[in-house]
Amino acid sequence: MPIDAKQPYDDSNIFARILRGELPSKTVLETDHSLAFHDINPLAPIHILVIPKGAYVSWDDFSARASDAEIADFTRAVGDVARQVGADAQGYRLLSNVGKRGGQEVPHLHVHIFGGQPLGPMLA
Ligand code: IMP
Repeated sequence: MPIDAKQPYDDSNIFARILRGELPSKTVLETDHSLAFHDINPLAPIHILVIPKGAYVSWDDFSARASDAEIADFTRAVGDVARQVGADAQGYRLLSNVGKRGGQEVPHLHVHIFGGQPLGPMLA
């Protein structure tokens, strides 16, 4: 069920629970402000999610409220993850769904990294 774009942050969401260590995840990278882990239901040979550790619902929320340090860390983490898994060699796709019309399901900002195959005009 897609989420409301402007809903308040709900710390019972699944990614908040991963950040608190209440649920497992296959970590790819952890930095001061960001965590990257494998998507549980991969849509491509490489499908990794990168999330900020802070409580942000979406890209909309993050870009409005996050500190410059968090934004810098998160932006760099996305690129670092792509290089770490070798997605940079042949190219990859970044996607962040925002709110209901964007098809966002988990109400904690995440950027999808898709790679490992030709992706065509749209994947998700
Ligand atoms: P959204 O539609 O952009 O919100 O995507 C949510 C993503 O989270 C989907 O690709 C799910 O497969 C993924 N997901 C949901 N639960 C978990 C989990 O526990 N671990 C890793 N990925 C998850």
